[in-house]
Amino acid sequence: MKQRPLTARGAAFAAGLFGLAFNVNPESLHLGLRRDVPPLMLCVLCGSDRLHPWLLGVPRLGTRVPSGFRIERCESCDLLQTRPQPSPDELRAAYGPAYTWRTNTDLLNRAESWYRQLLVRCDQARSVQLAARAANGIDCLDIGCGDGLLIAEARRRGLRACGIDRPGAPLWPACDPAWRTAADIETVDQSPHSWDVVSLFHVAEHLRDPLRMFTRIHRWLRAHGVLVIQVPNAGSFQAEVFGARWYGFDIPRHLVHWTDRTLTQALRQTGYEVTRTRYVSWRDNGPFLAGSLVPSLDPLMERERPLSVGSTRHPLSVTLRRLIYFGVVWAGTPLTLLEAAVRRPAVITLFARKAG
Ligand SMILES: [Zn+2]
Repeated sequence: MKQRPLTARGAAFAAGLFGLAFNVNPESLHLGLRRDVPPLMLCVLCGSDRLHPWLLGVPRLGTRVPSGFRIERCESCDLLQTRPQPSPDELRAAYGPAYTWRTNTDLLNRAESWYRQLLVRCDQARSVQLAARAANGIDCLDIGCGDGLLIAEARRRGLRACGIDRPGAPLWPACDPAWRTAADIETVDQSPHSWDVVSLFHVAEHLRDPLRMFTRIHRWLRAHGVLVIQVPNAGSFQAEVFGARWYGFDIPRHLVHWTDRTLTQALRQTGYEVTRTRYVSWRDNGPFLAGSLVPSLDPLMERERPLSVGSTRHPLSVTLRRLIYFGVVWAGTPLTLLEAAVRRPAVITLFARKAG
């Protein structure tokens, strides 16, 4: 699919549709485009220096105040990238302890853990299993595995799954610590031809040099091995409607904003053949819509922006807020299924077979 820039006409039309559906004022959506800021760096996909501003004043997740970051589009290959690149200090601050889900004994947290497990079973574990069947093997490596929930779920399906993530990440209760390696995913190495499936779920958008990562994984995969990549889709209907405030842009954590087309091109360039794309994601498509519509109710936002020191929410209020959030997520299901049917969902999953 051709990458579509946020033209005022297209976005206004889409905004009107969503405005009708969700009582959102289209005037409040950010549709700004300016071309007077000079490009700073080369495109990480094609090396071109013809990068131009595509979306300015992108606020941090859950806020309305424009940040110093913008998204630039490469005129040669259409890749969208965050500029300027955040400094190591900015990135360290952006991945605080609240970023990763933690389980505890709280009743609401336990209910959410169960729900999260259910979604990972239907979505990501299912994708890994499909990839393993296509690769005709059971050795699976999940890069950026977080707390290891997917590792545990893949093992339940008979796969020999392991994972890698940064040191200090919390551990899912059913994930054996021996299945997870603590390391920097951008520098860690593996033996050549050692995996049938490698998965990158919501990782490729965080990488400074994604093509280098795809090339390294190509070396680690066995012949006919499969790489599974799930990313927010910057070519989605939601991105066009919500503009700078779309949940999937997540500035400054997301450095590259993929579409079906640019991700396919990146995979081709690094020696893969895309064999399948999944457009339905029960885990993400609804939450991305809800997170864009009512960011204050989003669980990640709630964790990252706690109330002022000393004040807490009544447990009943916390439960009620979560119920409203899930109500919005599920009320959006007909729309998110429609987005998937026209291949413009918030999240896409590509299956890429190692070629050559
Ligand atoms: Zn480019």
